[in-house]
Amino acid sequence: MKNSAEVVIVGGGIVGLSVAYHLARRGMTDIVVLEKEDMCGTGSTGRCAGGFRHQFSTEVNIKLSLLSVKMLESFAEEMDQPIDFHQDGYLFLLKDPADVEVFRKNAEIQRRFDIPVEFLKPEEIVRVLPNTEIHLDDVIAATYCGKDGISDPAGVTEGYRKNVVRMGVPIYTGEEVVAIDVANGKIEGVRTKNHDIKTNTVVNAAGPFAGVLGKMAGIDVPVVPLRRFIWTTKPFDKAPSRWTLVIDFSTGFYFHRESGGVLFGMGNREEGPTFDLSVDWKFFDKVMEIAVERFPPIAETAIKNSWAGSYETSPDAHPILGRVPELPGFVLANGFSGHGFQHAPGVGQLIAEEILDGKAHTIDISPLSIARFAKGLHEVEKNVV
Ligand SMILES: Cc1cc2nc3c(=O)[nH]c(=O)nc-3n(C[C@H](O)[C@H](O)[C@H](O)COP(=O)(O)OP(=O)(O)OC[C@H]3O[C@@H](n4cnc5c(N)ncnc54)[C@H](O)[C@@H]3O)c2cc1C
Repeated sequence: MKNSAEVVIVGGGIVGLSVAYHLARRGMTDIVVLEKEDMCGTGSTGRCAGGFRHQFSTEVNIKLSLLSVKMLESFAEEMDQPIDFHQDGYLFLLKDPADVEVFRKNAEIQRRFDIPVEFLKPEEIVRVLPNTEIHLDDVIAATYCGKDGISDPAGVTEGYRKNVVRMGVPIYTGEEVVAIDVANGKIEGVRTKNHDIKTNTVVNAAGPFAGVLGKMAGIDVPVVPLRRFIWTTKPFDKAPSRWTLVIDFSTGFYFHRESGGVLFGMGNREEGPTFDLSVDWKFFDKVMEIAVERFPPIAETAIKNSWAGSYETSPDAHPILGRVPELPGFVLANGFSGHGFQHAPGVGQLIAEEILDGKAHTIDISPLSIARFAKGLHEVEKNVV
């Protein structure tokens, strides 16, 4: 193993690998990626639903989507890696007049960026989601953006991994970082159980463990792991024909087509932070009640698979990006709050700019600095599923 590197990236999920890719692509290959598990992408990345969307409530999240979705559109060709990519839209079903008002304001912001978001009456939904027997009696409006969609966490992760390796960057798996050496406001190195690596720059790409890694450097990174569940079903005749991600906004229940059946999920809003990744089957009963009510044909099939993963959640549901002011060698790429798959492509480029050019310039990420929390919460992303 190398015993020194210009940059050490901690975390071999989609974010750490995207950062490594963008650094290497610009010629910086004196990098090491350290991943504690035996392979890359088994953390939140490997447990995610694969959705991407432009329908956010804040400008900065919309800008991150515009940059990242463009990269996903050309990913297969650029990376020589086939990926699933379906731009069949996100459909938000709204039944509360207060939510409709919020979504109207969100749509105004999105349209400023030329995002083709549509407001639909219940009877118009069939146009974007044909042959899908969803229950709409209580739905008063919906929003739809055909540029949103579903992609492929495993394929995108593999694309980054293989290109990073091709460009000569070592990825060491089974290497858990247990300490970060800091002296006089400067990073001097990282230690795993078996190795020491000298470096002045560490990228925190530890996903739900961002806070744990932060502590090693003496920095309070306010990211907590919130457990989220996914279930997939066996194929069934009435599964939707399109890959549209349908979200019942008031409950957070969502589903999309997957392997001839559906993938569905819902977070337990009453549960606090936990690293427990077991599936809560009591909660499943509640999810299933909502699922059958919203999409009755789901009762005709059986569960094929289930798992839990962590949303790496920040206090304002926005990512925490860039250098830590009091420890500039510590660069954060954390707190994606359930949107890290879709924002990883752009964030990799922005963090590479921060490291190589002193400042990210494709998008101004200074509003996403960890320093913002000292001033209290200002802008909170409202559109979190
Ligand atoms: C159920 C579910 C559904 C989701 N759906 C979507 C979606 O539809 N769209 C979307 O955009 N996002 C979605 N997300 C969120 C998305 O999965 C995450 O935001 C994203 O994967 C974060 O990537 P990451 O690389 O930061 O984290 P991870 O994939 O968790 O990677 C972090 C890596 O760091 C490693 N690590 C941690 N600590 C150490 C250490 N000390 N030393 C070495 N390695 C370490 C971990 O093992 C892990 O591999 C979903 C998440 C879940 C759980």
